[in-house]
Amino acid sequence: MTISNAIEFKDVTFTYPESKAPVLKKINFKVKKGSWTALIGHNGSGKSTISKLINGLLLPDKDSGSVITVSGMNLNSENVWDIREKVGIVFQNPDNQFVGATVGDDVAFGLENRGVPRDQMVQTVKKVLSDVGMLDYIDAEPANLSGGQKQRVAIAGILAVEPEIIILDESTSMLDPSGRDQILKIIKRLMSEKKLTILSITHDIDEADMADNVIVLNDGKILAQASPTEIFSQTEMPRQIGLDIPFVDKLIYKLNQLGITIPKDVQTKDELKQYLC
Ligand code: ADP
Repeated sequence: MTISNAIEFKDVTFTYPESKAPVLKKINFKVKKGSWTALIGHNGSGKSTISKLINGLLLPDKDSGSVITVSGMNLNSENVWDIREKVGIVFQNPDNQFVGATVGDDVAFGLENRGVPRDQMVQTVKKVLSDVGMLDYIDAEPANLSGGQKQRVAIAGILAVEPEIIILDESTSMLDPSGRDQILKIIKRLMSEKKLTILSITHDIDEADMADNVIVLNDGKILAQASPTEIFSQTEMPRQIGLDIPFVDKLIYKLNQLGITIPKDVQTKDELKQYLC
């Protein structure tokens, strides 16, 4: 049987020991294998909690009927480590992610832990650094790299252990626009080359706009899950909860309100840009 979903949450409820009420309330969503899904919502809406549940750093409330499936496995306290092998997380602050004295040592870390033979390790480290355009920096000290270069090394370290899913947890929020664009371009390419599934947790509306699917979270509940165009340019909802909207979507929405409809063959945003020029 082939598995079509990389991640599935079914009626997932989660309460922190310190909190009085659940912070996630019967959450349901699916992330298709090989897709890019963006998870958006205000601070405190539950995004990080979801990311911690996906790799078993947190477990759902007992006896709540919650079911989390990751890479075809039903998450429970016994298979957390098997699941973590499938999921790599790139965090927000690139400085907190380094363990090696050089870029090469750092990327080798996960392989050393798995007892990979030295020759194979060297080959893999070179391959993944080249995948993210950082092979020339193999002997550099991580501290001397730019924020974007550090995030590329963090991605290489994750690729080395061949995950199926990569979570970008606000990974581009501390980068300048060119560093951000480079990371997103690399991720887009790697996704198709390595058949990866991407879940990006983001405040950056342009990053969300690059995804295949957007999940909108508000106060521990899912308000919508659809394509960026459907969510941003065809519904009132993101405006009602005060989310920012990508410029092109604002334009389509406004034109529609003014009764100016775009020809049906203009489907994508690039086609729209061309049509307007
Ligand atoms: P987001 O990532 O969208 O900002 P979080 O998942 O961090 O949201 O938080 C969701 C809710 O859970 C918030 O109300 C937050 O205050 C609460 N929360 C987060 N971490 C803890 C914790 N360790 N203990 C108690 N409450 C927490």
